[in-house]
Amino acid sequence: MTTLLYTHPACLAHDTGPYHPERPARLQAVLDALDGPAFAALDRREAPEVDMADLLRVHPRAHVDAVLAAIPVAGLRNLDPDTVVSPGSRAAALRAAGAVTAAVDAVMAGEAVNAFCAVRPPGHHAEPDRAMGFCLFNNVAVGALRAHLVHGCERVAVIDFDVHHGNGTQAMFAADARLFYASTHQWPLYPGTGARDERGAAGNVVNAPLAANAGSADFRFAVAEFVLPALEEFRPDFVFISAGFDAHSRDPLAALNLFEEDYAWVTDKLTGLAARHCAGRVVSVLEGGYDLEALASSSAVHVERLMAAG
Ligand SMILES: [Zn+2]
Repeated sequence: MTTLLYTHPACLAHDTGPYHPERPARLQAVLDALDGPAFAALDRREAPEVDMADLLRVHPRAHVDAVLAAIPVAGLRNLDPDTVVSPGSRAAALRAAGAVTAAVDAVMAGEAVNAFCAVRPPGHHAEPDRAMGFCLFNNVAVGALRAHLVHGCERVAVIDFDVHHGNGTQAMFAADARLFYASTHQWPLYPGTGARDERGAAGNVVNAPLAANAGSADFRFAVAEFVLPALEEFRPDFVFISAGFDAHSRDPLAALNLFEEDYAWVTDKLTGLAARHCAGRVVSVLEGGYDLEALASSSAVHVERLMAAG
C-alpha cells in the first residue's frame, strides 16, 4: 500500500494576476518538492473533473452556475477583493474538487490507505453559496460528503490546520452531528469566524483559536487538548485534512510560528487516530501556504508522514 497523489496541470493554469499570493508557483513548488527519490513510491494520478452531482451536494446549482459563468474568456475578473478568476479557473476548480472525490473513491476501494491532493484553487473558505478567500468550491467538503452519502461513511471528520479558519467547511458541517469539523487557526484573523464558542449543533465543531505569535507548543497543546479528544470521541469513519501550511513561521499572510516538525507531528497524530478508528483512511487536501520555501518543505514532510502511515 502506498499514498496516492492527485493533481492536474490545469490547476497551474488558474491565473490570479501578477501580485496575488495564491499563485501558480505555489503548486509548482509543492510538485517540485514531491519529485525527489523519497517520493518515488507515490502513486501519482491525474485528477478528473468533479461530477456535477458531487459539487451539488455542497453548493446550490444556481451558485455553481453563477461562479462558472463569472469566469472570463480572457483576462481576469474579481469575484470579491481577494478572489480572482481567469479563463483557466474553470478546469482548475473542477479538477481541484475532482481530485478529492477521486481520492475518496480510491481509498474506499482499498487502492491505498491515504492520499494527498495537490490542487488549487483552495477550498475551505468557499461557503455553500459564496466564493471567497481565494476559494471557488469547497473541495474538502465535496469529498467529505461523497464519503458520507455515496460510500456510507457514517461519521466524517475534517481537521483543518491552515492558519485561517475554514468558515466554508464549518458552515457546511455545523448543523449535522454526523459531520465533524475541527480547526486550529490564528484568531482574530481573516475571515473572522472560528471563535471557541462556535461548537456546531452537537459539539461537532471544535475551534481552537491561537493568538498571533503563538508557536509550536501552543499549537501542539491546542491539538492535543481540544482537537484530538473530540475527534476520538466522534469515532470517524473517514478523516480529511485541510492542509494549509500558512501557519509556518515564514508565511507572509499570518503570524504563527509553526515549523516542518509540527506538520510531521500533527500528521502522525491524525494518521494514528485514523488507523485506530477507520483503517487509516485519510484524504489530505492542500489549502493555503504562501511562502514557497516553507510550503514546499512543509508539504513534503506532510506527505512523507502520510507515506509512512500507508
Ligand atoms: Zn490560509
